[in-house]
Amino acid sequence: MYKEGMEELIRTIIRYIGDDPEREGLKDTPARVVRMWQEIFNGYKKSPSEYAKTFGMEKYDEMIVLRNIEVYSMCENHMLPFYGVAHVAYVPAEENNQVVEVIGVSKIARIVDTFSRRLQIQERLTDQITSFLMRELKPQGVGCIIKARHLCMMMRGVQKQHSEMITSSMIGLFRDDNKAREEFINLCR
Ligand code: ZN
Repeated sequence: MYKEGMEELIRTIIRYIGDDPEREGLKDTPARVVRMWQEIFNGYKKSPSEYAKTFGMEKYDEMIVLRNIEVYSMCENHMLPFYGVAHVAYVPAEENNQVVEVIGVSKIARIVDTFSRRLQIQERLTDQITSFLMRELKPQGVGCIIKARHLCMMMRGVQKQHSEMITSSMIGLFRDDNKAREEFINLCR
């Protein structure tokens, strides 16, 4: 879709909600919204594989946890934001007795970002993060917990303004081993 066509559509939306797209304060809004959408939906232009580079590290078979990764995404049912934090953990696979495969901490945040910047539902976002890391990193297990607030719940309907939605996805060790799962959950409190 072309930029001019998009701007015209946004002028139509402004008329539809009852305002005048030609008035001073709204004149440049369509162009701004189109530019903003390119940024907040840039997850379609990226592949998380760009950030999947792993490296070998001295044997370490404990859990690696990255907490409080900021998440900003858009609910696909209402095209309104949901936002919160993601916690991601994995236990590296043993390559041999000396070395394990790990992934850079900033890379995990980038992977979360790439999946977030698309039209999403929170459940699928959570699953996509763990499935992707499982496939690329082949760890003993991976877990992801996302806590988020949805503007579509907060601004409309029942206006549950303080409710948070929590989703989790646990694969491998995190699904099969209660101790590993509990350790992860406790670390995220
Ligand atoms: Zn929604």
